[in-house]
Amino acid sequence: MKALNLGILAHVDAGKTSLTERLLYAAGVIDAVGSVDDGSTQTDSLALERQRGITIKSAVVSFALGDLTVNLIDTPGHPDFIAEVERVLGVLDGAVLVVSAVEGVQAQTRILMRTLQRLRIPTLIFVNKIDRAGARYESLVQELRAKLSPEVVAMGATSNLGTATASFTPHQAPEGLVELLAEHDERLLAAYVEDENALSDDALRAGLAEQTRRAVVHPVYFGSAISGAGVEALIGGIRELLPAPEGDPRAPVAGSVFKVERGAAGEKVAYVRMFSGEVRTRDRLRFRGDQEAKVTAISVFDGGTTRTRASVAAGQIGKLWGLAEVRIGDRIAGGCVDESGRKASAGGREAFFAPPTLETVVLPAKASDRGNLQSALSQLAEQDPLINLRQDDVRQETSVSLYGEVQKEVIQTTLATEYGLDVDFRETTTIHIERIDGEGAAVEFNKVDPNPFLATVGLRVEPASPGQGVDFALEVELGSMPYAFIKAVEETVRETLQQGLRGWEIPDARVVMTHSGYSARQSHAHAVFDKSMSSTAGDFRLLTPLVLTTALRQAGTTVHEPMHRFQLELPTDTVRGVLSALAKLRAIPRVPALDTSTSVLEGEIPAAAVYQLEQQLPALTRGEGVLESAFKRYQPVTGAVPRRERTDHDPLNRREYLLHVLRRV
Ligand code: GDP
Repeated sequence: MKALNLGILAHVDAGKTSLTERLLYAAGVIDAVGSVDDGSTQTDSLALERQRGITIKSAVVSFALGDLTVNLIDTPGHPDFIAEVERVLGVLDGAVLVVSAVEGVQAQTRILMRTLQRLRIPTLIFVNKIDRAGARYESLVQELRAKLSPEVVAMGATSNLGTATASFTPHQAPEGLVELLAEHDERLLAAYVEDENALSDDALRAGLAEQTRRAVVHPVYFGSAISGAGVEALIGGIRELLPAPEGDPRAPVAGSVFKVERGAAGEKVAYVRMFSGEVRTRDRLRFRGDQEAKVTAISVFDGGTTRTRASVAAGQIGKLWGLAEVRIGDRIAGGCVDESGRKASAGGREAFFAPPTLETVVLPAKASDRGNLQSALSQLAEQDPLINLRQDDVRQETSVSLYGEVQKEVIQTTLATEYGLDVDFRETTTIHIERIDGEGAAVEFNKVDPNPFLATVGLRVEPASPGQGVDFALEVELGSMPYAFIKAVEETVRETLQQGLRGWEIPDARVVMTHSGYSARQSHAHAVFDKSMSSTAGDFRLLTPLVLTTALRQAGTTVHEPMHRFQLELPTDTVRGVLSALAKLRAIPRVPALDTSTSVLEGEIPAAAVYQLEQQLPALTRGEGVLESAFKRYQPVTGAVPRRERTDHDPLNRREYLLHVLRRV
């Protein structure tokens, strides 16, 4: 069975929802075409999605086109944050990009197309709304070429454009196809030069399919999601031109989680796109580092609904139950132990998303809503890969990290409409990080003053390269103390590094345990466990932050701020004004690529300044400037060093820390 995982992407209002309905209708999944305007569509259930065109929860609808199963995946495609979720788009085999025949290519359309191209996802373009007054053909194709990609080919012609009877007639070998294909194919070029008419239609179609699958050429269809014109032709294109890979079900398990939701009983359900292998119920799967869990149930998508199955195989999408700790973006792998005794790795780093660079504190309008707010936010965070939370237990507050200011509005509306919670936000701040400058070491010995804990812990910290994560290593014998104690030290090290010397996370570090020691369980003589004489994991958990921060002080840290790369398209005569605004925002543009009418500015800008730039841009560019930006790297801050309030009992202040934790003991 062939399966195609398809995504439909569009600028808000271009007709993504209506087209989805049309495809479902054409495939016989639904009996009547729902209307967006009276809210009866299959896919668009959230009011907020309607208002803002934001797909917060991706959904899947499956249908059959002949022998081809299409899994239509509603990817989290908030166009403002597409760069941040681009790894989720990696589950797609192909995409349909919807453009309005009247409004044409919008800023967000270009960003979507650029992302699809970066990921090399085969893409068909559907020019929608040909029935509307003002619908264009010739000038629209020009616009697609100029603004999306020069490698587009219109797959047919329209008639009665701009009227209710507008239609689309597909052509077997559309105009310009040979020339376009020949550019990317030496053999075709040679044959074409030899004799322009020698190439058969079949050879051209095969060439077109091949180049569409390599994402070098983009076929364009015209039609109307409302009248259904052109939809048959588009379906033909989906079947003929997009790749339906047949992954190997006997290969090792590899899959990608692109959606997580809660089932009827509150249990976690993961949507997994299988790239290879086969997962059966009761299989153990691995994901994110050394997490492991058993699959308790599986269902697959079929004809508009889901059905319980014993397995899900390469190429398919399955809902998996039992993976309690799984998150969006996780890669999954088989949990088998290989011959060397090491577990097969689930591969890759856990961060499949660019780090969020802004954060804000969410405050309930009514103090009594605090508890509800916390649980609502954790639910949202689970479902939406763009929402991360940080809990401040000392001040009893929750911070959410943000990719942009727009996200505040999304969170606020969702909390209001879905949970009935009114919230406010504190001012948005930039999330910095700390990097370790040099090497530092510290040790405290069991029963030696001033160590009040029954534990010996020695740690050395060293810098690690960006992106490496926290590496915990042992220079003590693994058998020198119970494994639970070593594990307690490692876990506490990771936790403590969440807040460096100035309160910012230290994402990359190498930490080596140099000393260990404990007091053995006192049970020989009197056979009773005496807490005052025997070490517990708690001793190690409480001592480790003190040792680690002493070592960190010695090593020193530098605070870094996030920088975005940006690309700015704007009218050439506005470049000067924009450049001087950029300078004020501490942006570093490269030499601009000036053109007669529009120019492109690229460079880096502090994440903290992106919002201001967005605000100023319309005035500076007569509303024509298009900005795309995404996280690039961290760089040391210059000037005043920002601090973040700690959310723990500050181990940097030994006296206070001990007062707090010893009182608890
Ligand atoms: P989405 O925001 O991309 O999901 O777009 P919708 O499917 O919600 O459509 C936005 C608006 O455009 C709705 O009012 C639709 O009725 C209308 N619309 C969508 N497709 C067409 C079309 O082909 N022709 C016309 N005339 N209107 C359309």
